[in-house]
Amino acid sequence: MSLVHTFENKTAVITGSARGIGKAIATEFAKLGANVVISDINAEMCEETAKELNAGILKSSENSAIAIAADVTDSSAVEALVKGAVEKFGSLDVVVNNAGITRDTLLVRMSEEDWDTVIRINLRGSFNVTRASAKIMMKQRSGRIVNIASVVGMRGNAGQANYSASKAGLIGLTKSAALELAPRGVTVNAVAPGFINTEMTDAMTEQATEAFLKTVPLRRKGEPEDVAAAVLFLASESASYITGQTISVCGGINM
Ligand code: NAP
Repeated sequence: MSLVHTFENKTAVITGSARGIGKAIATEFAKLGANVVISDINAEMCEETAKELNAGILKSSENSAIAIAADVTDSSAVEALVKGAVEKFGSLDVVVNNAGITRDTLLVRMSEEDWDTVIRINLRGSFNVTRASAKIMMKQRSGRIVNIASVVGMRGNAGQANYSASKAGLIGLTKSAALELAPRGVTVNAVAPGFINTEMTDAMTEQATEAFLKTVPLRRKGEPEDVAAAVLFLASESASYITGQTISVCGGINM
């Protein structure tokens, strides 16, 4: 067994991958030989990211990136996404449920709409993608699903009742799907990032950022590539005996 991962002739679909952590995950898969499907809600941004990969790191590679836009809350669009990936590349080997949003506010001020929107995108969206992918992976008798949760789904966080509930739900989904799909050779795991340097955390005030960093034992934000490294491990051959687990990538916040 080699600890150097290779994804040659593998197809990886990553939701919410036009930017941020999803884009870093797609980039790392592409570097290691996978054909990647950039999927996001904004079609133009998907095209731009796929084009950037094909013209950059994939310029002289055998593998390539394509864009298939899909809103993860739309189950028909999600079915078309996984079908499109198989039609183009012949298999569906890795699916990363990365699309997610926040609508932060204190519980007593939280509207039902803020609650529903976050649960619908982060949790039902991941359910839609997992269900559509599972049908294909079960037939293939192989596949890897990796869900991007959050440490707040394990610990809670003031001001994020909707978001932490959605991520705790995603960890529950991970375990149940892992149990159902294990007999067919499909693993389902989660990665729980802490405080990662993306537009999502850029939106925080400097004061809030400083206060938060004091709670991080490693005293810095993580980079999207730190999350990507854990995802690639869970999607690799090296992780074939790991399922139903959640790995925290959080500078030590979660112990
Ligand atoms: P990001 O920069 O906001 O990227 C998320 C992407 O998902 C965006 O391109 C967004 O599109 C897309 N998206 C939103 N709703 C969608 C939908 N309905 N269907 C398809 N795509 C949709 O966020 P990020 O920081 O990279 O986060 C990626 C994942 O990591 C999320 O699940 C997040 O909860 C999780 N996470 C992040 C952190 C962190 O510190 N950054 C920590 C823990 C967990 P739009 O731009 O149009 O909204």
